[in-house]
Amino acid sequence: MIICKSKREIDYLLKAGSIAAQAQEKMAELIAPGITTGEIDRLAEEFISRNGARPAFKGYRGFPASVCSSVNDQVVHGIPGDRVLKEGDIVSLDVGTIMDGFYGDCARTVPVGKVSREAEQLIEVTRKSLEEGIARAQEGGRLTDISHAIQNYVEQHGYSVVRDYVGHGIGRSMHEAPQIPNFGPPNRGPRLKKGMTLAIEPMVNCGSYEVKTLKDGWTVVTCDGSLSAHFEDSIAIDGDRAQILTKP
Ligand code: MG
Repeated sequence: MIICKSKREIDYLLKAGSIAAQAQEKMAELIAPGITTGEIDRLAEEFISRNGARPAFKGYRGFPASVCSSVNDQVVHGIPGDRVLKEGDIVSLDVGTIMDGFYGDCARTVPVGKVSREAEQLIEVTRKSLEEGIARAQEGGRLTDISHAIQNYVEQHGYSVVRDYVGHGIGRSMHEAPQIPNFGPPNRGPRLKKGMTLAIEPMVNCGSYEVKTLKDGWTVVTCDGSLSAHFEDSIAIDGDRAQILTKP
């Protein structure tokens, strides 16, 4: 069941979302050759706690950290640790927060120092594909209008969208109905209503869309070793223009 939120509930979601988005800004400032993904995770966790929220991913189904950090061909769910980021890497950071019982969830892919033109373009196309999806998140439209807009934009640029992981509703749970694929035909699925709150999150690969999970049980990588990027925002359906919940 899709739960439409009241104005008051959306205000709570904005608070949790704002802390997640601010944590993203803090992490982006820290990203430089030489830092480890574990250090980034610790700093983000500290920031979230200092601001009165809790990291939502920590302990979620046993996930051992506060941030998912996925480097280069890693798509999502990378575990922070001793890996040292090098010039030319790209790192996808996904962070969730919980505050007053409401969740915020957002992801960004960040370049480490100077990166290749290919990496730069992948990041840009993924970021814009999220914007394209959000532009279709309109009251009265249908859910897969979002999905279709993302896939269309990504494939126009010669990249592929991951099929195995999708966006989701968000609210008092991190994952609510509906699931939001980043692919497929438009004009299907539930009609979008004011107060629906969705986490839209395209994962885009330079090569094939196929992915697999590493032996650690978490880290998802591209099967062909190609680069992958990930952007996510939580939004609320509100007329023709969705309200972004994960803004700093
Ligand atoms: Mg998410």
